[in-house]
Amino acid sequence: MSNGLGTTTVQRDLRSGTPVWLRRGPARVMSAPLAENLKVDVVVVGAGISGALVTDALLRAGKRVAVLDRRGPVKGSTPASTALLQFDIDQPLTHLTRKLGRERAVRAYWRSATAVDFLRGRIADLGLRCAFRERQSVYLPGNVLNVKALKREATARTEVGLRSRFIGAGELRALTGIERPGAVLSCGAGELDPVALVAGLWRSALSRGASIYAPTEVIGIESGRSGVTLTTASGHAIRAGHAVFATGYELVKLVKPIRYKVISTWAMATAPQPDRLWPSRCLIWEAADPYLYLRTTSDGRVIAGGEDEAFSSEVRRDALIPAKINAIRRKLEKLLPGLDTKPEFTWAGCFGDSSTGLPAIGAIPGAERCFAVLGYGGNGITFSAIAAQVIQRAVLGLPDPDADLFALPG
Ligand SMILES: Cc1cc2nc3c(=O)[nH]c(=O)nc-3n(C[C@H](O)[C@H](O)[C@H](O)COP(=O)(O)OP(=O)(O)OC[C@H]3O[C@@H](n4cnc5c(N)ncnc54)[C@H](O)[C@@H]3O)c2cc1C
Repeated sequence: MSNGLGTTTVQRDLRSGTPVWLRRGPARVMSAPLAENLKVDVVVVGAGISGALVTDALLRAGKRVAVLDRRGPVKGSTPASTALLQFDIDQPLTHLTRKLGRERAVRAYWRSATAVDFLRGRIADLGLRCAFRERQSVYLPGNVLNVKALKREATARTEVGLRSRFIGAGELRALTGIERPGAVLSCGAGELDPVALVAGLWRSALSRGASIYAPTEVIGIESGRSGVTLTTASGHAIRAGHAVFATGYELVKLVKPIRYKVISTWAMATAPQPDRLWPSRCLIWEAADPYLYLRTTSDGRVIAGGEDEAFSSEVRRDALIPAKINAIRRKLEKLLPGLDTKPEFTWAGCFGDSSTGLPAIGAIPGAERCFAVLGYGGNGITFSAIAAQVIQRAVLGLPDPDADLFALPG
């Protein structure tokens, strides 16, 4: 099949403002525009966290990999990430169970928990310096789950072996200084610097033989039983056994956007204030809509975000930056009155939402040998780690026990 009309993916203004990770400028990773035709085993489109983890997995499988990006390595939405690393899916386990049935919902949570462990392992194996810290995570009551519902959520997780439990007001106060009647405490979460992580993954991939071509835009796809040919705006062709579209919120047009939506989100980071932070420095988020989430950084800043809106217009998103940052600040002040909430960095970006909170990862129906990764949801980085495993197995022709959970709509 062929898609020869116009661009292959939607084009967006993915983020605005300055994410705290870019305070010293963009990541430096070697790349150059594609200047010749190429033949490789797998071509990966997109050089964000999804492309980087998928490439890492394909290199480990012994594949020759070329990566193309219309911007450059770590220049899409990944630098906007606040990078809380959690297994919690946007839909609580109790809600997901109602939507998907218990077996599938529990499997999705287990897979997510395994993916966080897998990513922690790869960071250690590769010796990546990305300010990774293991953290606990606290899930506060809100208008989505009240205290009673949070207790049920904790039980549902505990009884299937997930590392969560309900904590009362005293334990919550000791961990966070927050005055609420209770929360769900989960272990095995983490925080990191997403730009440092992905730049490190790309440097490792380059040293293991991958090539990164950027800025290089893919504008055409032809696929068949024997392979895939991508064409670029510069007029070059890449022939490969398989193609992986890790294009984030710039959805590949071959994928039907049912169940998946691009929305808008806002975030801020304070100045360093290590003496004012909550004792455990755990990740904190609310079972609320709109929600607030927060974490700390290695230099003692507080990052807070949320206030998501269900539109994708960049003009509206950017016009709302002052109002949304004020709303986040006010919530933060109310939650933790001892903090200095003045923002030193503010930013806004595209964000992804899906009706189940699950990502879409796998073969693109109707496009042979082509795969897509849509890590849409609050824990998109965890989903990128799942994608690395699912796509590696698919390219090797091996089954993945959870592929059905993430399969793309036909
Ligand atoms: C404010 C914010 C906070 C977030 N917080 C968290 C969090 O706390 N925890 C978490 O786990 N996740 C979080 N996420 C989500 C997570 O950051 C994203 O899921 C993830 O960064 C997406 O990475 P990606 O590689 O899929 O996309 P990107 O980083 O956008 O990479 C896709 C790349 O594809 C390229 N591309 C697109 N089309 C083409 C084409 N035709 N040709 C060539 N190249 C192309 C683009 O240039 C881009 O560089 C957050 C996101 C935002 C915006």
